[in-house]
Amino acid sequence: MAAVRMPETMDAVLEEIGGDADYSLMAGGTDLLVAMREGQVRSARIVCLEKIPELREIGMADGRVAIGAAATLERVAGHPLVRRHLDLLCGAIAVLGSPPVVRMATLGGNICSASPAGDTLPPLCVLGAEVELCSRLGTRRLPVSAFITGPRKIALAAGEVLTRVLIPVPAPGCRAAYWKVGLRKAQSIAVVSLAALRSESDVRLAWGSVGPVVQVFPEVEASLKGQCLPAGLLRAQAERVERLVSPIDDVRATAAYRRKVAGNLLHRLAELERAEA
Ligand SMILES: Cc1cc2nc3c(=O)[nH]c(=O)nc-3n(C[C@H](O)[C@H](O)[C@H](O)COP(=O)(O)OP(=O)(O)OC[C@H]3O[C@@H](n4cnc5c(N)ncnc54)[C@H](O)[C@@H]3O)c2cc1C
Repeated sequence: MAAVRMPETMDAVLEEIGGDADYSLMAGGTDLLVAMREGQVRSARIVCLEKIPELREIGMADGRVAIGAAATLERVAGHPLVRRHLDLLCGAIAVLGSPPVVRMATLGGNICSASPAGDTLPPLCVLGAEVELCSRLGTRRLPVSAFITGPRKIALAAGEVLTRVLIPVPAPGCRAAYWKVGLRKAQSIAVVSLAALRSESDVRLAWGSVGPVVQVFPEVEASLKGQCLPAGLLRAQAERVERLVSPIDDVRATAAYRRKVAGNLLHRLAELERAEA
């Protein structure tokens, strides 16, 4: 059975994890405890992050929204700064899991779980979010897209903690949406998802659940940039997306279905166009 540690300061966390690497960090525990019960994780120590006040702070830092890694998704989605500047992230949390999960799960945990179906990941990618990683050696920052290196794989070194997520505020006039296709309306993992951020001059798109990590196709974004999105253009780009994605078959859907839905979701960009009119 694992020993449970409840450090109360960040220094104590770094002290706790700075020696041997036989530990797991725990935030909300909604993923970790399932993995432990299934025998996928067998650490000697569980180091809980819930008592560290600075890991739950939400504020502005250098013009970006800075969200403490251990802020719960419920708090993130309800925070005035997030509601004012990041409705895309609020929209993704609104369709994530169920109220009990959202109450316990944290933004840092959703990122570090690095699930191809993680609902906050496509929005964080199109928003250009960065993670801040802290260890006894210092602090470094990485784009979320570089931090997640594969399914359930992250660029977190032993002795490091994800402390904050730094999210640029979209330019005024930007329209954004997160569309999630699941097997049912609630408590459902994404079969395919798409986050879109559109301004007059730019389009950012990121798909979830159709590859080992969030999928971004700069050539598709470039061809939709500054365009008024006629149906023919969307159809051509949707077919291109179907060819570019690399989904797998699993218990939730076939790869062929995911490919088709990934393309179909692109047509929903027209909704953002209508919202602008
Ligand atoms: C019933 C159910 C439904 C769900 N539905 C969805 C869904 O629809 N969409 C979705 O995206 N997810 C879903 N999930 C998955 C899960 O809730 C999320 O991934 C959640 O955000 C994980 O956050 P947590 O705080 O609970 O992480 P934890 O379980 O505490 O940790 C998860 C992983 O991240 C690491 N970690 C956590 N915090 C840090 C940190 N600050 N620094 C470094 N490493 C850290 C842990 O060591 C662990 O490896 C569901 C889970 C359940 C049980």
